[in-house]
Amino acid sequence: MAACDLGVCDVRYISTRGSAPDLAFDEVLLTGLARDGGLYVPAEWPQLSADDLRAMAGQTYNEIAFTVIKPFVGGTIEDADLKQIIERAYSTFENGDVAPLVDIGDGVMLMEQFHGPTLAFKDVAMQLLGGLFDHVLKARGTSITIVGATSGDTGSAALEACKNKDALRIFMLHPKGRVSDVQRKQMTTVVADNVYNLAVEGTFDDCQDLVKAMFNDQQFRDRHNLSAVNSINWARVMAQIVYYVYAAVQLGAPDKQVSFTVPTGNFGNVFAGYAAKQMGVPIKRFVVASNSNDILARFFSSGEMKMETVVPTISPSMDIQISSNFERLLFDLLGRDGAAVADTLTKFRETGAFSVSEDAYQAARALFAGARYDDTETKQTIKDLHNQTGMLIDPHSAVGVAAARSTPETDGTPMVVLATAHPAKFPDAVEDASGVRPGLPPRVGDLFDREEKAVDIAGDLAAIETYINDHSPLKSGAA
Ligand SMILES: *Cc1c(COP(=O)(O)O)cnc(C)c1O
Repeated sequence: MAACDLGVCDVRYISTRGSAPDLAFDEVLLTGLARDGGLYVPAEWPQLSADDLRAMAGQTYNEIAFTVIKPFVGGTIEDADLKQIIERAYSTFENGDVAPLVDIGDGVMLMEQFHGPTLAFKDVAMQLLGGLFDHVLKARGTSITIVGATSGDTGSAALEACKNKDALRIFMLHPKGRVSDVQRKQMTTVVADNVYNLAVEGTFDDCQDLVKAMFNDQQFRDRHNLSAVNSINWARVMAQIVYYVYAAVQLGAPDKQVSFTVPTGNFGNVFAGYAAKQMGVPIKRFVVASNSNDILARFFSSGEMKMETVVPTISPSMDIQISSNFERLLFDLLGRDGAAVADTLTKFRETGAFSVSEDAYQAARALFAGARYDDTETKQTIKDLHNQTGMLIDPHSAVGVAAARSTPETDGTPMVVLATAHPAKFPDAVEDASGVRPGLPPRVGDLFDREEKAVDIAGDLAAIETYINDHSPLKSGAA
């Protein structure tokens, strides 16, 4: 695979399954999943030279974001527009700092990623994605309707990112009475003309099935230009590369190495770190931290990916069995052979398991280690850190801290743990562990007093499609 230099690189995108057309950035953004069922990845990694990294010392997050993102956008967005989209996206973060580092001792730092509007790291990618969608759609003179189902986090981040964007309309389904108070409030208090919260009679699975059924209804899908903002969209991964570069530069890149521990579900966040490494950032290794749903930890300790049933934990955003973004790493582990990826994943779907060759496994092991912590260990970590430092961390971040502390770097390389959610987002678990109930930060402190807006609706496809028909302008020319 050839590399390209910053500035002279217009990245094209190829599918991990090898039989979909190559696309430019704007097409990848709007397409999401490739037509052959694969995920889009850059055909080559733009390179950050030692001089490029040195020039970033002292730069703001937004300045570094522009340098990192520009080659991936590959000329499909003007520089001035891209700068403005980045500025707007991150003006929603407290103090404008998207990813501050906090030292917790013993060579471990937290990278706090929860200062955005919904208090979790998904805001970092989602806020940028909203602006990118709006810009690209307006340039094409079109608009889309986003539909999604959520059991919590992703829904509120998507609503906050899409609100008041003229080219977007968003309908978010959640299971009525089955999301936490904080999660519901974070969705239903987003009030904007293009935002619709649907409280559906039924479970989260029912909501997901309804969304799938809407996408399978070809006529409905075309009429509304249906789209999704799910975690396989390349632009979300791209946005997340930035904070790995930002942290590494603060810790002495290009002259010093750094390691990262990443609490993981879909493998999206940690894959972005891998991308930073491919771009030339001196990253020594990644610790992939799982809760009891430990399919990835088991893969990195055995070379076998084997599905088991999902168990609910106190870190629910990582309660995942199939890590969809792992396909992007698998593509590289299999020598970028799309047909081999397709075969492997077909087998996985049929049998619930696959293994990689010894060479591929050793290549993965050279860079990644897996670790698994159950709820008891997670709570103990929250309690210990609180006793030692007075800090409260959320259960997802605590899985990361437990992993980082149990596999310390012995050569002085700093270890950065990604703190993916604010403790106040999971107040019951944090209080249970530490005896202290975390308060909402001041800027969202009135969340529980804000007016909620949601429509109660039957868990019925016809009812939901009728609602969307009644609340969406039809595409011009559509039936
Ligand atoms: C989504 C999420 C994760 C997992 O991120 P992936 O990209 O799916 O690995 C971890 N923590 C929190 C709080 C999340 O919302």
